[in-house]
Amino acid sequence: MLREETEEELSDGRKYTANDMVRIGTDDCRGCSDCCRMGPVIVLDPLDVFELNRFLGQSFEELLNETIELKVIDGLILPVLKLVAEDSPATASGQVPATQSTSAAAPATQFTPAAAPEDPEPMVCPYLGQDGRCTIHDFRPGICRMYPLGRSWENGDFHYILQVNECTHCSGTKIKVRKWLGIPNLDAYEDFCRSWHDLLERTRRLLGGTKPDGSLRRQVCIYLLQQFYLCDWKIDDFYTVFGGRRAEALRHLGFAI
Ligand code: SF4
Ligand code: SF4
Repeated sequence: MLREETEEELSDGRKYTANDMVRIGTDDCRGCSDCCRMGPVIVLDPLDVFELNRFLGQSFEELLNETIELKVIDGLILPVLKLVAEDSPATASGQVPATQSTSAAAPATQFTPAAAPEDPEPMVCPYLGQDGRCTIHDFRPGICRMYPLGRSWENGDFHYILQVNECTHCSGTKIKVRKWLGIPNLDAYEDFCRSWHDLLERTRRLLGGTKPDGSLRRQVCIYLLQQFYLCDWKIDDFYTVFGGRRAEALRHLGFAI
């Protein structure tokens, strides 16, 4: 979610690239898991969902039945990790929930953003194991990989920032940002982040004058979900296929390529 705080309030004031060193060491977190409990909203991009599809063998619709939900994020309907009660079976077992039948999933045209929960009981990420460790560590979402780093956007590009008020156990050990992220082919990943951010920002501007609950906004949001999340991602070269789908979406939405 876009934040209201300024970069100066959030960060140590420095702008980091992948090749910079940052004082971020969390001493392997030691089962802290604070950021997986009632933490920031983890918005999932298409690559995050592709990785969950691939490693868990679950489709987007199956994930929607279990561990993710749709929320309105700055005017667009996007998937986020669905927090669950701390003592729910999914977290008590420390296991990734079993796959459910696709037939039970909601049709794409019936997507409804989740209402804000009224019950303030302790909530945690559905992928947090009972031992306080992430059960999908090797393919966790990009926001989780960065944390407590974040991205700050300016004119379609970004730099990394260290969110100084977030992680409770940073030891201050220096590490290169690239190593911290641990993402293969980081250049291609960062290009993907820019392309996805650009598409979302153009779409937000396109819908800027429309009603928050208007049918055009809803149609465009459903189109994005179908084009980038509900599609069959059973491929190896994610970035190339994503680029093709993005070019198609730019044409369909009337944007210059
Ligand atoms: S809050 Fe910091 S130390 Fe705790 S789990 Fe998150 S990154 Fe690790
Ligand atoms: S996916 Fe893993 S790292 Fe991310 S919030 Fe959930 S448990 Fe924590």
